[in-house]
Amino acid sequence: MENQKSYPGKAPESNDQPATDLNEDIKHHIMTTMGNDFYPPRKDTYYKGLAYSVRDRLVKRWLNSQRSFYDRSAKRVYYLSLEFLPGRFLMNYVTNMQLNKACEKTLEETGFTMEEIEEQEWDAGLGNGGLGRLASCYMDSMASLNIPAYGYGIMYDYGIFYQTIVNGYQVEQCDNWVRWGNPWEFKRRGFLYNVQFYGRSELYKNSSGKLCYRWVDTLDINAMACDILIPGYGTQNVNNMRLWAAMSSQEFSLEEFNQGDYIGAMESKVLTENISKVLYPSDEKDVGKELRLKQQYFFVAATFQDIVRRFKKHNPDFKLLPDRVAVQLNDTHPAIAIPELMRLLLDEEDLEWETAWEISVKTFAYTNHTVLPEALESWPVRLISKLLPRHMEIIYEINRRFLNMVEKQYPNNPQLLHRISIIEDGPEQRVRMAHLAIVGSHTVNGVAALHSRILKDKLFHDFNIIFPGKIINVTNGVTPRRWVLQVNPALSSLITDTIGSDWITDLDQLKKLIPHADNPAFREKWRQVKLANKARLVKYIKRKVGMDVNPDTLFDVHVKRIHEYKRQLLNIFHVITLYNRIKKDPSKEIVPRTVIFAGKAAPAYVQAKLIIKLINSVADLVNNDPDVNHKLEVVFLPNYCVSQAEKIIPATDLSEQISTAGLEASGTGNMKFALNGALTIGTLDGANIEIMEEVGEDNIFIFGLTAKEVEKKRAQGYNPWDYYSRDEELRTTLDMVRLNHFIPGEPNLFLPIWDSLMALGDRYLVLADFRAFIQAQDRVRTLYQDQEQWTRCSILNTANMGKFSSDRAVREYARDIWKIESCK
Ligand SMILES: *Cc1c(COP(=O)(O)O)cnc(C)c1O
Repeated sequence: MENQKSYPGKAPESNDQPATDLNEDIKHHIMTTMGNDFYPPRKDTYYKGLAYSVRDRLVKRWLNSQRSFYDRSAKRVYYLSLEFLPGRFLMNYVTNMQLNKACEKTLEETGFTMEEIEEQEWDAGLGNGGLGRLASCYMDSMASLNIPAYGYGIMYDYGIFYQTIVNGYQVEQCDNWVRWGNPWEFKRRGFLYNVQFYGRSELYKNSSGKLCYRWVDTLDINAMACDILIPGYGTQNVNNMRLWAAMSSQEFSLEEFNQGDYIGAMESKVLTENISKVLYPSDEKDVGKELRLKQQYFFVAATFQDIVRRFKKHNPDFKLLPDRVAVQLNDTHPAIAIPELMRLLLDEEDLEWETAWEISVKTFAYTNHTVLPEALESWPVRLISKLLPRHMEIIYEINRRFLNMVEKQYPNNPQLLHRISIIEDGPEQRVRMAHLAIVGSHTVNGVAALHSRILKDKLFHDFNIIFPGKIINVTNGVTPRRWVLQVNPALSSLITDTIGSDWITDLDQLKKLIPHADNPAFREKWRQVKLANKARLVKYIKRKVGMDVNPDTLFDVHVKRIHEYKRQLLNIFHVITLYNRIKKDPSKEIVPRTVIFAGKAAPAYVQAKLIIKLINSVADLVNNDPDVNHKLEVVFLPNYCVSQAEKIIPATDLSEQISTAGLEASGTGNMKFALNGALTIGTLDGANIEIMEEVGEDNIFIFGLTAKEVEKKRAQGYNPWDYYSRDEELRTTLDMVRLNHFIPGEPNLFLPIWDSLMALGDRYLVLADFRAFIQAQDRVRTLYQDQEQWTRCSILNTANMGKFSSDRAVREYARDIWKIESCK
């Protein structure tokens, strides 16, 4: 392909865009696109002018890329996700197009720094956390690997809520992220698809006398495409992310207009446009709301009209669909796509069931992200029947045929059929979306080796027997472009100066750093980089929460969604323990620590919100106690998001990855930290296990029960009281929580936390792992005292993290699931 001559690792020719052109363009856009004066320069207008100018440079490449995909009638990958978490775009575009130097040059005239301009952009927070961020990392890798891929999702008006902390409590504010306009999207106002809801399924005879189904008397909504460009690194290739926005449909409102009900029609219009209004802010929990199901079907229906339209341009026969189209379902959220494709093939394209089913299964693959039972989606049959009556018929038929097949293979086993059925029986019948996704896909993958093992042996054990080989593993990865090159320029320069720049697209090259870990001069430079990043974070902390933090302390960081299984409690118990030790002997020398927390709790997750309050209450006590004398500081940074992660991660010494073993499917935060030279303190959970295998047991602090031991402990009857009575430091800590030692006058505030541990059985085994965690933290302290050894470990972490590039992960998807070549 003519425009794809440059290959990953080789800088594109446009490397040093003449800065003068860029400067002219920015001024032009500020004047003509935005209607502003350039003088005096303002940060917000300058940001937008730059954004438009950068985008201009991409559009041509993008159109070329899209055209070349048609020319090759290439197999395309469709990545369907209800969430994407891109964060800010500007620096990602600048980095991937290698425009940094040109940007800095044009900035000279204004006196602004690139960082100040970058800060003008509001995060695109169209996801909750790891799952959405993974989708965005994969978009970057697919573009960089020249894979003809499309991301499909929803253009929410309001992304994940903006978190503020008031009196120690989380308060949610709406994230009106498009308030100031979004310079990155192309709204296709004339490009609408019709999406049906409600109505009924009707049998009729078609022109050749065959009995067919059609879906009639529906309420229709339009989907408008909003496109966002996804540039690869070191390639001319630019992919597309298409997000759908709901628009009321004309015909629908007209009907009511004719009956003279203008206001009624307008109300309906507003209601239909609600579909893409807001992202559901729950992570790892099924919300089960009707509007959520509407969102799922809305985006799936629009996406498949788009896929089919594109397919039909060059392909007359639907049997070719699996050779031209691979659809990846990011969790079960888009799994309604399976009956939707069946409906299109059966009712619209007039295919026979067997043919349609074979095509469909060969097209879909499903990624599972969790084993937490409360996160597994299921929808009441009643609800689907009302909203999507034809789909409900199809799901029943899929299930009937599936159970028949299994029955033949494993006769006289009603329990088995009961367990695997797509329809769950009970007072209210429900559709198990994971079962639908497994039956309707050719491949199912977990996201880390341990997680995939658990899927095969436990959660989906029956399916693993019925469909041997269907469940596989693809360990998650993160993009080194955003998560090193862009967020840690100082480290990137040091690495490139030492081993060259190939690591950016071939992360295994980082292994070349290994010998340098033994070089004291290199270690000194490595430390200087970390210190500079810590100084940058210190400024950010000062600006956000007004605290003065000392960069010459161990930065101990726990940032991720607040969830009981992620065990922020275990970490705060360690903080309380350190506090008690200092109080016992204030003169004793200890390694000074700054413990940094950040993370959002789902607004309805009462216990998680109370954990935030507890962290802030402990922080108040510790930070203001003269005995502590700044040897220990606790910071809770409000509104954890991608742009905040970008500031925190490069500055971290110690990365907290301490979930109950068996419950964190993979984690990707763990990867970002270790890649940036943080040492991990973690359980043998998710991808931590593989990180340990890569960086070596001596360069990571592993502690606590393994997944097997957790299971065994539960089976034997776990009793938290045993630990409470045996461990004095633990008992003191828990009593302080029970009696609320932290805030005078509110004695019962934290009783629900005490109860969850002591009365309700400590579901996440915080007490069982407490002592092991404290001991691991003692090992951390000892190693940190030896800065040469610590730095050596830090270098060896970065050097051995090549496996966790999303390029590797995407290559595995391409080879094992999508069966498509990634152009080298
Ligand atoms: C990477 C990332 C996550 C995922 O973090 P985990 O520690 O894997 O849960 C969540 N939120 C943001 C903003 C991230 O960048």
